Amino acid sequence: MKKIVLLILLFSNIAPMIKAGGPKQVAKIDRSLWPYEISSTEEFDFASKMEMLVFIDVFQLRDQIMIEDSIKKFLGVEKISMSSINLWKEQTKKVLMSNFNALTNTSVHNFIEIPKPINWQGLANAASSLEKSVPGNLKAWFTEAKAFYDSYIYEQMRLAALFPRVTSEILTLQNSEVNGFTFGDKQFLLTFDDGPTLSGGNTDKLISTLSKNHMNGVFFVLGDNFNARLKASSEQKMNELYNSVVVGSHGKVHNVHPKYSEWQYSITFTKHLIDSVITENNRAGYFRPPYGQRNDNMIEFLGQNDIRVMLWNIDSQDWNAKITSGEVADRVITLILLWRKGVLLFHDSHSKANEALPIIWNSLKNSDVNWMDAKQMK
Ligand SMILES: [Zn+2]
Repeated sequence: MKKIVLLILLFSNIAPMIKAGGPKQVAKIDRSLWPYEISSTEEFDFASKMEMLVFIDVFQLRDQIMIEDSIKKFLGVEKISMSSINLWKEQTKKVLMSNFNALTNTSVHNFIEIPKPINWQGLANAASSLEKSVPGNLKAWFTEAKAFYDSYIYEQMRLAALFPRVTSEILTLQNSEVNGFTFGDKQFLLTFDDGPTLSGGNTDKLISTLSKNHMNGVFFVLGDNFNARLKASSEQKMNELYNSVVVGSHGKVHNVHPKYSEWQYSITFTKHLIDSVITENNRAGYFRPPYGQRNDNMIEFLGQNDIRVMLWNIDSQDWNAKITSGEVADRVITLILLWRKGVLLFHDSHSKANEALPIIWNSLKNSDVNWMDAKQMK
């Protein structure tokens, strides 16, 4: 009986994952367990340092016990790419080391010193000493953070293990691809996929919320959705809708493009549609591949059409029925503290971004986080 349950669990974990790029369990954390504000530079940096240390602690524990066979068992994947996993590990270490260098010399709530100059071994040692030194008022957060990073590292490592058999946002194929890790410290770009919805739907509500808060973002539209809404309205109405934001392409249909025979048409159709309707100031020359799946041929073809691939590095999981909008906000805030830069992935086809974003902005309001102007992303 147990075996059957286990098999069902393993199987159900793999099937949706390979296509959707998302695991069955979603890493969640309750930010109310963090007893301090994060809405000032110093408080942000203290929280960021602590998130990074817990991540490193869990990452190191995984690293030490992980040989190929145990990784396969842990992830429930038969065919894994060790070279992709190793590349992901190396890149992750580099990002975290550079993030530690970006921290202000803050002394607020300080109880753990990071030896200078920053190196991986020093960070790993500091991270492993955390369990003993964490003060009482951070204990509940610490326990929850460990569980969060356990799930999150599983999500990430799983994507790396499948790459490039199943491509995703986890690694780039070419340097021209943007994923957010090359942004400056505390720079974040908002992106929204799968729209537009019908008139008056989630797309309209979200753009209105962005606009009211003096924010914008890149909307990666599906050609078919865009066309349907255009036919039901007018070019002028489409420009009014996207007036304060920027439009990019998500393809004509939400298919896995490397396996879709009409992928070239999907790209050119959507590009022509956007170019012929949306004014130049509101267009971004970016393509977001559905599920993050693409290949070298596609990147080359996009390049010939003056389009670049935009991936993401902070996945809100807002499309997932297993996470509420409050939990989306907590997850995104935590990943903002961890990565300190990046492209955030949301969906305007769902309602959660509209509810989660005001919570996120409010928590970070005086933290010097720089919400990038999508109109500058040309
Ligand atoms: Zn999509």
